[in-house]
Amino acid sequence: MPVAKKKNTVKKNNTLKLKFDTSWSYDPAPESKSAATINKQYDLFINGEWQKPVSKKYFNTINPATEEKLSEVADANAADVDKAVKAAKNAYEKVWKKMPAKERAKYVFRIARIIQERARELAIIETLDGGKPIKESRDFDIPTAANHFFYYAGWADKLEYAFPNRKTEPLGVAGQIIPWNFPLLMAAWKIAPAIATGNTVVLKSAETTPLTSLKLAEIIQEADLPPGVVNIITGAGSTGAAIVNHPDVNKIAFTGSTDVGKIIQRAIAGTDKKATLELGGKAANIIFEDAPIDQAVEGVINGIFFNQGHVCCAGSRLYVQESVAKEVIRKLKDRLESLIVGDPMDKNTDIGAINSKSQLDIIHKYIGIGKKEGAEMYESSCRLPGKGFFCRPTLFTNVAQSNRIAQEEIFGPVLAILTFRTEDEVIEKANNSPYGLSAGVWTDKGSKIFNMTKRMRAGVVWANTFNKFDPTSPFGGYKESGFGREGGLHGLLPYLNLQNI
Ligand code: NAP
Ligand code: MG
Repeated sequence: MPVAKKKNTVKKNNTLKLKFDTSWSYDPAPESKSAATINKQYDLFINGEWQKPVSKKYFNTINPATEEKLSEVADANAADVDKAVKAAKNAYEKVWKKMPAKERAKYVFRIARIIQERARELAIIETLDGGKPIKESRDFDIPTAANHFFYYAGWADKLEYAFPNRKTEPLGVAGQIIPWNFPLLMAAWKIAPAIATGNTVVLKSAETTPLTSLKLAEIIQEADLPPGVVNIITGAGSTGAAIVNHPDVNKIAFTGSTDVGKIIQRAIAGTDKKATLELGGKAANIIFEDAPIDQAVEGVINGIFFNQGHVCCAGSRLYVQESVAKEVIRKLKDRLESLIVGDPMDKNTDIGAINSKSQLDIIHKYIGIGKKEGAEMYESSCRLPGKGFFCRPTLFTNVAQSNRIAQEEIFGPVLAILTFRTEDEVIEKANNSPYGLSAGVWTDKGSKIFNMTKRMRAGVVWANTFNKFDPTSPFGGYKESGFGREGGLHGLLPYLNLQNI
């Protein structure tokens, strides 16, 4: 039950006025850790079994909210990658590509069902390992991951309808490398379409968030998937590079930073490897004066502070029409104060822990840059926990288009606010970015929405909402946000060769 900290009741001119302290404190409502089992140590999941790393090395994964060690996981080297790729190639040639699509679909469906059955455990582990609030892991990450497997299970035996008059063929072994912001969901985005279309997989999770991928390996074992169809390995950047450079990998699916995306593109240039790159972003969220302001403010808050701003499509640049700028900024500041920052395992928490110390340092560096550039900073006055990596939700006003905080990806809970007068002006400003992953438009006018979506160079444009995802909808970028689409019918294409019949 929420309890107002301070409550004054004042009677004035016969009207009853309630004055509350602006902050409400909720009783703690922590999720229990007991529903999750985390082993002390994890090996590599290769060829359907847990194998000790050839490297003989392990590294720790910690809980960023407490800085405590959760487990240690294998650090795969090039020899380990080679074992995983061999297992994937063997499974592709001997089993998976020959299996009738209808049978393949049953396995993918089974994985989805087991994710649902083990949803609570997965949500707890996602939150412990990555720092995101339990309400997000529970209500968004895990159900959406299951939905991706369900969705692509449905496509497996219907490819002739997806691509009429074309013969479809899988590519072979897909090397998949994922980041730390949506660990299980990114694994699902990658594995589900790959295996549904008849490819086999070697997937590497991010260094700081390996645990739900390893839980997924347990689920894959439980689903009785033929050995080698999905291999899950852990390691650092060099492990990812070994996957990219392996000659028997036919396709690279990468989600991560633009810098590493460029390294990968250079590494595969001149080879016949196919690639999809889902990279960084600096999304513009645009509020017109005719927008439903309260709804827009809530959308902006969700757009940038959801998942601590660790979202490639986070609405990190806000463009407000001048006539409503004052009102919007005031409301945003009020809302910032009411966001609950703290223990990610508490069901009330809105903003959890920053994923790692190094990411927290990057965010602090950008806050310093914003101040130096002359922008005006406003941060929530909330108290931060004494341990762990936390950051106050922060916004900047008086930002110039050329400021680094308006141009570069911060990947944290930091919003840059700019203003505009006309539609043409804001389109030009929004498109003035090396990125082009997503954008948002808030307006009462349908015609304005159509005009904006047509002219904005962004893979996804949300209208009167933000950060909405669905497995049926394709997602991907323009410009330095990468290429290729994941999700929907489009998400099948990167895993297939199409031939005319
Ligand atoms: P990152 O540093 O690029 O890492 C991504 C993955 O690549 C990790 O597994 C990483 O391993 C691995 N890696 C590092 N160096 C590599 C190399 N030379 N060759 C192959 N793999 C390598 O990105 P991040 O910091 O984890 O994630 C944040 C970034 O991801 C942001 O820029 C964000 O916008 C982007 N992102 C994009 C999307 C999208 O759909 N467009 C979605 C989510 C995130 P280690 O973990 O061991 O370093
Ligand atoms: Mg961790």
